[in-house]
Amino acid sequence: MLDQTMPIPAPKVITGAKYNWELVIGLEVHAQVSSNAKLFSGASTTFGAEPNSNVAFVDAGMPGMLPVINEECVAQAVRTGLGLKANINLSSAFDRKNYFYPDLPQGYQISQLYHPIVGEGEVFVEMGDGTARTVRIERIHLEQDAGKSVHDMDPNNSFVDLNRTGVALMEIVSRPDIRGPEEAAAYVIKLRQIMQYLGTCDGNMQNGSLRADVNVSVCRPGDYEKYQATQDFDHLGTRCEIKNMNSMRFMQAAINFEAKRQIAILEDGGIINQETRLYDADKNETRSMRSKEEAHDYRYFPCPDLLPLEIEQNWVDELEAKLPELPDTKKLRFISSFNLSNYDAGVLTAEKQNAAYFEQVARGRDGKTAANWVINELFGRMKKEDAKITDCPVSPDQLGGIIDLIAKGEISGKIAKELFEIVYTEGGNPADIVNSRNMKQVTDTGEIEAALEQIIKDNPIQVDKAKQNPKLAGWFVGQVIKATGGKANPQVVNQIVASKLKL
Ligand code: ADP
Ligand code: MG
Repeated sequence: MLDQTMPIPAPKVITGAKYNWELVIGLEVHAQVSSNAKLFSGASTTFGAEPNSNVAFVDAGMPGMLPVINEECVAQAVRTGLGLKANINLSSAFDRKNYFYPDLPQGYQISQLYHPIVGEGEVFVEMGDGTARTVRIERIHLEQDAGKSVHDMDPNNSFVDLNRTGVALMEIVSRPDIRGPEEAAAYVIKLRQIMQYLGTCDGNMQNGSLRADVNVSVCRPGDYEKYQATQDFDHLGTRCEIKNMNSMRFMQAAINFEAKRQIAILEDGGIINQETRLYDADKNETRSMRSKEEAHDYRYFPCPDLLPLEIEQNWVDELEAKLPELPDTKKLRFISSFNLSNYDAGVLTAEKQNAAYFEQVARGRDGKTAANWVINELFGRMKKEDAKITDCPVSPDQLGGIIDLIAKGEISGKIAKELFEIVYTEGGNPADIVNSRNMKQVTDTGEIEAALEQIIKDNPIQVDKAKQNPKLAGWFVGQVIKATGGKANPQVVNQIVASKLKL
C-alpha cells in the first residue's frame, strides 16, 4: 500500500516565549447522509426548499408520532464505515440526547452514544510534501440534525425552519492523531473525497453538508510519544473544542489561534479549562461558548420508541460487494497501469468524475500523454472559467481525437493547442477541423526545402555563422516553422536544415 513507503509528517511545532510546543488535534466531523428522505420520516431532504415545507409530523415533534428508521440511511452509514475500513457493528442502538432548543421541537435528539453503528477504522491522509499519516477513526454514529433558527429577518421576532430537522447525519469521530492545521484540513478533504466516491455525503461545505468540531490541545515535545505508547490521555494537554467549522481556511486559522492562546496561558502558569469555543472569522479569534462545568447534562437514555438496530452480515457483505473503487485503490491503479507519477494520479483521482473522464481519454492511448492533456490543458482551461468536468464542453472522445492527431504526426503540439481552443469554444470533430482549416502539419519536404532556400538566400550572414557554430541551426528551424505558419513538422525541418547547411 501507499502508506508503508511514505514518511510520517512532523508535528507542527509552535515556539512559545519559554518553550516549544506541539499540536494535538482530534476531529468530530458531521456529514449529512445523502438520501431522499430523513432518518426517521419520509419528508424530503432537498436543500433550499421553501421553509417548513419538508416537515413530517414526527419531525415537528407532534405527540404520539413514532420514528421509523430509514433503511437507506443505515446502508449509507455502513457504506461509509466500509469505505473507512471500519468494523461494522451488527447490533447498534439509538439514544435520546435531551436538550431544549427552539429548532428541536422533540426536546431531544436521537443519536447513538452507547452503541454506534460503526466502530474503529482508519483514513490514509497524504500531505502535499510526500509525507502521509494514517488517522484512526474511533466511531461513526447516526443521528438527527436539528432545524435552523433565523434571527436576522425581523427586528423583533426569530423564525424557525424545520426543513433540516431530522435529516440523517453521520458523526465521524477521529482519534487525536492529527498533528497540525494542514493535516486537519487534508484529513477533512480526504474524508470528503471518500464519501463523494461512495455517494454517501455530497460534501458541500457551503450548504452545511459537512462541518467539523475541532478539538485542540498542546503538549511539550515527547509527551505525544508517551501517549502513543500507552494510549493514556493523561500525557496530553487539556483540549478545547471549536464548534461547527465549515471552511478549511477558517479551520486552520482557528487551530493556530487556539494553540497560541493555550500556550500563552500555560507559559503564564495557568491551566486550560476544557470548554467549547466558537471561532469568529472577522476577528480571527476563538471565544468561549460554554465551559465543562456549564456543559449540558443530556440525560442520555435508550430511545424507547426504537428497537435496537440489528443488521445482518449478509446485507453488509452485499453492500460491500457493490462498493465503487475507492480513491486510494484508484490512485494506485492509475500509477501502475498508466505509468503516472504519484502527484498526477492524485490530481486525476481527487474527484471521481475527473478520474472517469481521464480513463476514457487514456483508454488505448499513452497514459502519460493523456494525463498531461487532461491536467494541463483541460483542467487549466476549465479553471479559467471555474467550470466543472460535468459541464466541460470537450468530451473525452474529442480530447482523445486531438491526442491521436499528434500521435499520427498530423499536427504539431503547438497546433494541437490551437485546435484544443477551437474545440473548446466552438465544438466539432478535431480531425474534420484540421482538414477544413488546413491545419495539417507540413511534412512535405519539397515545401519545407523551398521555404528554407528562401531563408538561406535572404540571410547569408546567418548561414556563415551557423556553419561555424552548428548550434545556430535552431534559428533556421524556427524561421522555417514560422514561414509555414507553424505547421512544418519540427523533426523534418531539423533534418533538412542540417543537410542543407552541411552541418
Ligand atoms: P467527548 O465525549 O467529550 O466529546 P470524546 O472522547 O468523544 O469526548 O472526544 C472527542 C474528540 O476529542 C475526539 O475526536 C478525540 O480525538 C478528541 N480528543 C480527545 N483528547 C484530545 C486531546 N487531548 N487533544 C485533542 N483532541 C482530543
Ligand atoms: Mg464526542
